[in-house]
Amino acid sequence: MSNLSIGICGAGMGGLAAAIALRQAGHAVRVFERTPRFNRVGADINLTPNAVFALDKLGVGAYLRKSAARPTFRISRDGITGEETSRLPMSSAAEAKYGAPQLTIHRADLLSAMQDQVPAGCIELGRAVHGVSLRDHGATIRFADDVEADFDVVIGADGIHSAVRSALWGADTPAFTGIVSYRGVFPRERVEGMADIDAFTKWWGDTGDRQIVVFPLTQGKEIFVFATTPEEAWSAEGWTLPGDIEALRAAYSDFHPQARALLDACDSVTASALFVREPMAQWARGAVTLLGDAAHPMVPFMAQGACMAIEDAVVLARALTGVSRDARGGQIGEALRRYEAERKPRTAEIQRSSLANDWLKTGSNADWVYAYDAWTVALP
Ligand SMILES: Cc1cc2nc3c(=O)[nH]c(=O)nc-3n(C[C@H](O)[C@H](O)[C@H](O)COP(=O)(O)OP(=O)(O)OC[C@H]3O[C@@H](n4cnc5c(N)ncnc54)[C@H](O)[C@@H]3O)c2cc1C
Repeated sequence: MSNLSIGICGAGMGGLAAAIALRQAGHAVRVFERTPRFNRVGADINLTPNAVFALDKLGVGAYLRKSAARPTFRISRDGITGEETSRLPMSSAAEAKYGAPQLTIHRADLLSAMQDQVPAGCIELGRAVHGVSLRDHGATIRFADDVEADFDVVIGADGIHSAVRSALWGADTPAFTGIVSYRGVFPRERVEGMADIDAFTKWWGDTGDRQIVVFPLTQGKEIFVFATTPEEAWSAEGWTLPGDIEALRAAYSDFHPQARALLDACDSVTASALFVREPMAQWARGAVTLLGDAAHPMVPFMAQGACMAIEDAVVLARALTGVSRDARGGQIGEALRRYEAERKPRTAEIQRSSLANDWLKTGSNADWVYAYDAWTVALP
């Protein structure tokens, strides 16, 4: 059997997870990332058991556990009164139930854990993809410098503004939700003794555009806070734009004192606007498919965007396992259809549910999200 050559556009969490999984399946993988160097962006990532379970079998789990925190509970509270409306045991209880705990970690630590799982030459930095075209057998990636490279399969893992998605389906612009998110990290000592500080807690506002989420990072040494405000318009893009901490505190002046104390503990915050797209009717064309935010961007209210990208990567690699280039288009097209048929309904449901922003506000059954096993789920 002659293994496939696979070009992955984008070395975010989805692209790197796909690179690891597809190499494990025996294929020859090259990853193209437009960023000239990996910067340590100081943002968090909350990985729920479904994603940690997927990452464990990719060989990333042990590294993650060195720096991640394990939230004790997943709690919902009314932002104004502080009344508890939902409480799920996480940590060891989640591990026993779902086979993996919830882990909260710096985004850069997750990315470097994944980079360590592929040979250095596999990821090519500073290579911006400008377009993709289909061939009779395979596809061609065109880079910013007009250089081209041919592959048996091409995967667009290049995020919400995906150039691959535009090449396949035409350019369109994601919609601004009218919500801007703020993130801050501070040392634990500032809130030592606060109730449930080792839990993941969401303080719900009276409208969907105000909420505060808090959880531990770096094995509990740091505390991470996420909050949102409504904004009429927003044009700037990026993860590290400075936010106005005083304006943020003012926007939460009616919240419970414990929630306000979390914002008071932040020296500064970064801001990023939230954008969405509708679920797509179809992802793949010929030998090219999409993965992660390129296929199904979502608002972060279920904290599932990266988790879905990681699940996608595992299912895609399983669908392409045993597919040989000797069989040419037929087997590849069939594998991409099986991947998409399994992943599209789940990710569309999570896109819709994230936007509705009522996940675990009350009730405590998270099984449909957390119990998903990307390694064994039946492929249609
Ligand atoms: C405020 C906020 C909080 C979030 N919190 C969570 C959370 O707690 N848990 C969770 O699971 N998800 C969370 N998410 C969602 C998560 O960040 C995304 O779903 C996830 O990053 C998607 O991964 P990806 O690999 O598909 O895309 P990205 O992470 O966007 O990676 C795409 C990569 O492609 C590269 N690229 C882009 N264009 C090109 C090109 N033309 N050529 C080459 N390379 C290119 C980019 O530089 C980037 O490295 C959050 C999102 C936001 C906005």
